[in-house]
Amino acid sequence: MEFFRESMLELIIQTSTNLPPDVRQAMGQALETESPGTQAGQALAIIGQNIDMAYDDEGPICQDTGMPTFEIKTPVGVNQIEMKRVIQEAVAEATRRGKLRPNSVDSITGKNSGNNLGPGTPVIHFEQWEEPTIEVRLILKGGGCENKNIQYSVPCTLDRLGRADRDLQGVKKCILHAVWQAQGQGCAPGALGVCIGSDRAAGYHHAKLQLFRPLDDVNPDPTLAKLEAEIMEEANKLGVGTMGFGGQVSLIGCKITAANRLPAGYFVSVAYDCWAFRRLGMLLDAESGAIRKWLYWDPERSVERLIGKGAGFQLTGREVRLEPPLDEEKVRALKVGDVVLINGPLVTGRDAVHHYLMHNDSPTDLRGAILYHCGPVMIKQGKTWRTNAAGPTTSIREEPYEADIIKRFGIRAVMGKGGMGKKTLAALQEFGAVYLHAIGGAAQFYARCLPKVLGVDLLELGTPEAMWRFEAKDFVAIVTMDSHGNSLHEDVAAATGAELEKAGARG
Ligand code: SF4
Repeated sequence: MEFFRESMLELIIQTSTNLPPDVRQAMGQALETESPGTQAGQALAIIGQNIDMAYDDEGPICQDTGMPTFEIKTPVGVNQIEMKRVIQEAVAEATRRGKLRPNSVDSITGKNSGNNLGPGTPVIHFEQWEEPTIEVRLILKGGGCENKNIQYSVPCTLDRLGRADRDLQGVKKCILHAVWQAQGQGCAPGALGVCIGSDRAAGYHHAKLQLFRPLDDVNPDPTLAKLEAEIMEEANKLGVGTMGFGGQVSLIGCKITAANRLPAGYFVSVAYDCWAFRRLGMLLDAESGAIRKWLYWDPERSVERLIGKGAGFQLTGREVRLEPPLDEEKVRALKVGDVVLINGPLVTGRDAVHHYLMHNDSPTDLRGAILYHCGPVMIKQGKTWRTNAAGPTTSIREEPYEADIIKRFGIRAVMGKGGMGKKTLAALQEFGAVYLHAIGGAAQFYARCLPKVLGVDLLELGTPEAMWRFEAKDFVAIVTMDSHGNSLHEDVAAATGAELEKAGARG
């Protein structure tokens, strides 16, 4: 198995940086469907540009490289213990090279292991098969979309849809509800893996395995094939759109399986993956571990570029220029829908920083600041830090803290993705601040908008959680919550909720 380590490293690097052709094609279709003048169209233009940039520079497509999950089939007699050890080595090396973000956090102490290794990480599942080769498939599914996974125990009563029974109509209601509840927080447009039946734990596992099916395949079970097609049609009528900005493309795939269940239990488990739907695989020689064939991707064929399909953000001249520190008057003049271009200092803060600030003073002055919800991938070269990926993280996790932090530290803008709730909206109104929406997953695009690292505090929290100070250059974002009580997220949730009701009535 002298080539196995090299093969695993290549699999990890390609999965993190090279979106598979079926997903690329679906995103190309989304670009062609959505009108370029809309917020969803603008977001897709950035996403498409980001996908091309990631491939060109071999950088992570999204800064959240997720929970590396390997599904492996081996012939009888292959040493799985040795394979596991080598995969762990490859994961640590890919992390060192900045292709994976250090994402393995001790659940008791909160300490990041720094190399993606630790109890339960990475996830490696083995199975034996009768073939002479080894098959390895890898999925990198990030935390934002993982948080939008959902499991229903039917019969149940669903918001906007009423009762879901133990039949295919009930299942359909659950799946449509899953798309609606995700809104933009899982970086729509998304792809679903669904399991009908099984138990709670295995149901989620079967659902995730469905994400390994190519987006353009057809379910061999005609009943499930029909259900998948119906979900695709109905979900894309809801109007969630890219990033939850409203729009015509909410879902790029829906793959469903069924497993037997206990008589007393009926679960519908939904694994929601974002547009940065990173999964690849390979067949390996069982003796040497050398790559025999890639799955999903053919390295001999040229990669379909999205730039020709409408990708690439275009300035219109109507953007509002923001140069922090911001004053109240400037911020109160902003309205939902304004596109802003940020030049000047940006400070990052996500879960651990918010927790820290609730109990401590800030290590840096935050008056007039833009607080960016971001856990970047950083690489240290000598004494200098380089930003390797820096898209926004899901803001709603900070909802319990943000209003207090805006008030205490005089922050004028919080920036992230997916929007925030009523408590933050009220604080924006009371203290004169806004919520800026950056485009989720556009980690390469935004890394280039943060050309200079000004400093870092709280590095002991781990690189994704530290408080980074960047110099921003033409950093693009959209105002989605303003200081006048307006929230695009509330508007889209209400409009899509009305569509969901109609879908439920259609049956
Ligand atoms: S694209 Fe969004 S949901 Fe997906 S991994 Fe990146 S930040 Fe998370």
